[in-house]
Amino acid sequence: MRKFKLKMQAGGNWFARELPSYLQVWRLPPLERIGPDQFADLFRITPIATLGQIINVTVVAIALCGHAGYLPMFIWWLTNLLMCGWTYSRWLRNRHRKIEKLSSRAIPRAVISGVLFALPWALLAGFYLGSLPRHEELIMCIALIGMVASGSVQLSRIYPAAIAYLVTIFAPVIFKSISIGEGHYYLLAALAVSYIAYLLTIVANSANASIERSTALNDLEKKVVLLDEANDALEKLASFDDLTDLPNRRAFYIHLEGTINEAMLFRDQVYVLVGDLDHFKNVNDMAGHAAGDQLLQVIAQRLADCVGEGDLVARMGGDEFAVIVQSADILADKNAFMKRLLERINEPVDLDGTSVNPGMSFGVSSFPDDAKDAESLLSYADIALQQGKSISRGDCWFFNSRMSEQLAADNVLEKELREALAAKEFELFYQPKVDIKTGRLHGMESLVRWRRANGDVVAPGGFFRVAEERGLMSELADYVLDKFVEDNCHWTNMGLSPGFVSVNIHPIQIKDRNRMAAFADQVAETVLDKTKLVIEITEECVVGRGTDEVPNTLAFMRDQNFRISLDDFGTGYASLTHLKTLPVDELKIDRSFISDLNTDMSDRAIVLAMIKLADTLGISVVAEGIEDQEQHNTLLAMGCANGQGYFYGRPMDVEAATTYLREAYSRDRSRKAVAGEAASRHQLSA
Ligand code: C2E
Ligand code: MG
Ligand code: MG
Repeated sequence: MRKFKLKMQAGGNWFARELPSYLQVWRLPPLERIGPDQFADLFRITPIATLGQIINVTVVAIALCGHAGYLPMFIWWLTNLLMCGWTYSRWLRNRHRKIEKLSSRAIPRAVISGVLFALPWALLAGFYLGSLPRHEELIMCIALIGMVASGSVQLSRIYPAAIAYLVTIFAPVIFKSISIGEGHYYLLAALAVSYIAYLLTIVANSANASIERSTALNDLEKKVVLLDEANDALEKLASFDDLTDLPNRRAFYIHLEGTINEAMLFRDQVYVLVGDLDHFKNVNDMAGHAAGDQLLQVIAQRLADCVGEGDLVARMGGDEFAVIVQSADILADKNAFMKRLLERINEPVDLDGTSVNPGMSFGVSSFPDDAKDAESLLSYADIALQQGKSISRGDCWFFNSRMSEQLAADNVLEKELREALAAKEFELFYQPKVDIKTGRLHGMESLVRWRRANGDVVAPGGFFRVAEERGLMSELADYVLDKFVEDNCHWTNMGLSPGFVSVNIHPIQIKDRNRMAAFADQVAETVLDKTKLVIEITEECVVGRGTDEVPNTLAFMRDQNFRISLDDFGTGYASLTHLKTLPVDELKIDRSFISDLNTDMSDRAIVLAMIKLADTLGISVVAEGIEDQEQHNTLLAMGCANGQGYFYGRPMDVEAATTYLREAYSRDRSRKAVAGEAASRHQLSA
């Protein structure tokens, strides 16, 4: 008993557990999931379904007309035919139209159509079931089953229509069979009920499958679209510059290779321009990065405006652009094109209220004259740009073989400089500055020299440019300061006094306050008297990018008791302004005013004005580059206090400078002794 109970329980559980899963076969998808795809599926099979229906109704009409009567069967046949014709004509009209969206009436309309198509068959069964001879009834029943099966499968994607169709046909079959009340007809009714259940399974299955398939397809389609978009974006990212929308370096290179291949075939000429904005960093620093970006966009547009159809402008990165020119009209007069290009670039740009005058320098190489491959053409244009820029900015420079020789030489020099720095091959030479009136030593200027392993001594003119361009200046300038401190300590320890000793400060150094403070600390830890140390700065140190803090740094150095000297005075744009705004103790009249002092009246007038100005401002003066007696005499007559130049002494190495100082010292002592003797003689005679 207990065992049976357990079985019952297990059976009950089985039903509760398994039945819902069996009933799942009739689970229909939600109505709102029926979409355009399901209607499109139905629409697609319309012609073949229509043909099947026509055959069916014709066969039935022929079979039944003898007993059911010609007229009713003809009307029945014609009605069916008209409905088929209507369906087919709709298909013909709309077969190429894509159904984008379903109207809210689409499903009710489909249900009505299902009922309408089922109705003739329902009427046929309702009227003639049980009243026809066996053979005719058999044909009618087979036709009915065929119609129900094919129609409900056809309509299954829009399952409410399929159910309406199915029920409309089978309902009269079942009712009529039961109402006849004979054994076979009961069986027929039972068959009809079982077909309904079975066909409903097929309808549900097909509806679910169709909806799932179209959902999956739609998802896939969306993913493919997304993938396509992502691919496009990636392609764009890989080939275009985001800011200017111009092709980037990669795209430029590919395009250049293609252009060269074409040009080889047609024996065309191609020019490659590489250009960068002059002083672009100043714009970024002064007006901000947004303004810098805006300027780059304007320049990109201007470049694109200037080139012809088929030419290409690209942004290579930063402020660097490149152009491929092959338009015949531009090549016909390339100088006119370059002029037009520079003029267009130079037009002022308004950056949020700040007017900027942009400038650009270009390097140009040509195919096939300079090179026949993309890499060399680009590199030659770049060499022309770099070499040209070091001469003057805001111009177009055409590549020539001399330029690549220069580049090669620069590369060698850079390598040698690096090795020289590591081997400490640099030293300071010292050139005397004298009191013009007495001829006594006023001070010394330290000047860096590179003593090469072969014994050659190279002045800054031979290596400064490359050191600056290749980023070696910072290390060299720091080395100079160390050497300067070392040499001066050496003299102080020997009891020698070189007077006011100056060191030339590079713009890189003065722009960095911490560096100058470190130098001041370094000096403070020595025996040196800071009041005798002079730092020489040029106008380059106070003009341009990153110089805002320089006046404060100079004031700081002066507070630390260093003297400040303004070197090469008169060569800059705003020399007088600097005299007013900077804490200056000394100005050095540039050599260019001294060399023609005795022949050029305006130089003479300028020098005199400088001496007077310095006198008025209480600043001491040194005239640079005095080479002969005549210049010395003139400056003496003008009242110039101090002078420096080959006339008094050339720059000399530490050893020679030490001898010089010793001699100056003993000269001074004997001068003092003579003066002392004279004074005591004078006293005695008095
Ligand atoms: P500067 O500071 O104006 O130095 C004077 C330059 O004129 C020196 O050239 C000197 O040798 C040269 N000179 C002096 N008297 C005469 C003369 O009578 N006739 C002629 N023709 N030249 C004369 P140098 O040594 O070749 O230096 C050139 C420039 O390089 C210097 O101009 C200075 O701006 C820079 N410089 C030199 N040494 C250093 C250094 O250690 N550090 C830095 N940052 N710059 C330096
Ligand atoms: Mg100097
Ligand atoms: Mg100078």
